[in-house]
Parts: sequence; C-alpha cells; structure tokens
Amino acid sequence: MTDRRTELAENLARVEERIASACAAAGRKREEVTLIVVTKTYPASDVRLLHGLGVRHVAENKDQEAAPKAAACSDLSLTWHFVGQLQTNKARSVAGYADVVQSVDRPKLVRALSAAAVRAERELGCLVQVALDAESGRQGDRGGVAPDGVEELAAAVDGAPGLRLDGLMAVAPLSGPYTGRQQAAFERLMEFSSRLHANHPAANMVSAGMSGDLEQAVAAGATHVRVGTAVLGVRPRLG
Ligand SMILES: *Cc1c(COP(=O)(O)O)cnc(C)c1O
Repeated sequence: MTDRRTELAENLARVEERIASACAAAGRKREEVTLIVVTKTYPASDVRLLHGLGVRHVAENKDQEAAPKAAACSDLSLTWHFVGQLQTNKARSVAGYADVVQSVDRPKLVRALSAAAVRAERELGCLVQVALDAESGRQGDRGGVAPDGVEELAAAVDGAPGLRLDGLMAVAPLSGPYTGRQQAAFERLMEFSSRLHANHPAANMVSAGMSGDLEQAVAAGATHVRVGTAVLGVRPRLG
C-alpha cells in the first residue's frame, strides 16, 4: 500500500463509521445513505485509489477540473456528480461525463442541460438545488433556487428531454436564520422533498450534509452525503 492509499483508507473508515453511527442513532438502515466523495482539487490518482477502496460515487464542482479528471478515470465504474455553480456555456462539457447534476437552479440551465444531454445521447439525472435562506425570486449566495421556485423548476426538469428529475440538493446556509442550525435547515429541505415527492414520486434523492454536518443530514433524512475534507484532507486552495 502506498502512504496515500493508507491515509485515504483510514479516513474513509472514519467517515464510514460516522455515517453508520448517525444511521443507527436515527433508526435508519445504513443502505439508506450513499456516500459521495467530493474529489475537487485532488488529482485523478486519488479518484483511482478511492475506487480501489470501494468508492463508487464522486463529485466535482468545476468543469475545467472535472472534465480531464473524469476522462482520466473513464475506465473505472464510477457515478460522477456535478455539485458546483454551473454556467450554461459549460453544460455541453458537463453532459459528456456527469451522471447527475446536483446544482440545477434556473430554467436557463435546464434548457442548456437538456439540449446538451440530447446531443450527447445521454440521460442526465438532475437535482434541484434549494437555497434554503433565499428570498422569493432570488438565488442563494452559493447557488440554488429560492424555496418557492422549487416546484416550477422541478416541473421544467421533468418535462425536459434528456433529463431525469432525481430530487433535491442543499448546502447548509452560512448566514441568515439557519446559521449554525444545520439540522433545522436539513429538516426544512426534507419538507420540500416530501412536497416534491407528491408530484414526482421517482424524485426521492435528498443530497445534504458535508464533512462538518453529515450527522445532522442523516438525522434529518438525507439519502446522499457529499464528503470532501474528511476523506481527502484539507483542500490546498479554495474549491
Ligand atoms: C466542496 C463541497 C462539498 C464537500 O465539502 P467538505 O466540507 O470538504 O466535505 C460538498 N458539497 C458541495 C456542493 C461542495 O462544493
């Protein structure tokens, strides 16, 4: 084993233990929660090591970094999630390698992703990103649609060729009424998810929780947690 492989294996084991305890504490089955490892700023060689350690879901937040990394790992069976704010002019590139885009937050992006998916002859899973603290008609600081825009955007995804509505994603707000109250924020997200579910029964993914708050996300009912730092280490630069 290389040193890096050992380090990743130990970190993964710790994260796995955290997820398992959070599931146990919440009376949930471990299989209800999928770990997505956020590999942004880390090299393709780490993705390869993670795959060897059993990881099957990875996430990236910048197309210019993700596209070459996904290409370098195209021989591995991995599900690629795109979780960053996405410009429409990057939609075509992202549709070439991403399996799920978790950061769908405006109609223009739905149209661009749909056109790109059709052109690439691929089906793209989409999560509507909810900005839990954004006011009506506004975007969140870290992307996302305001809560009252969720259903309209979900309907747009549902009706768009090449796209599949999978559910909702959120990042715990850093400011506003939910500051430091991650579990309350994620519980609010679950309410939106239940509402979405009523009209779109197949849209049952809820992506919430990162290295610092995965326990709160699992307690609230998240189906997917996105963990970067706790597996790969503190990122060398902002990403
Ligand atoms: C970077 C990132 C994560 C992972 O954050 P960590 O704190 O490093 O676990 C999760 N979700 C999104 C959208 C991210 O950009």
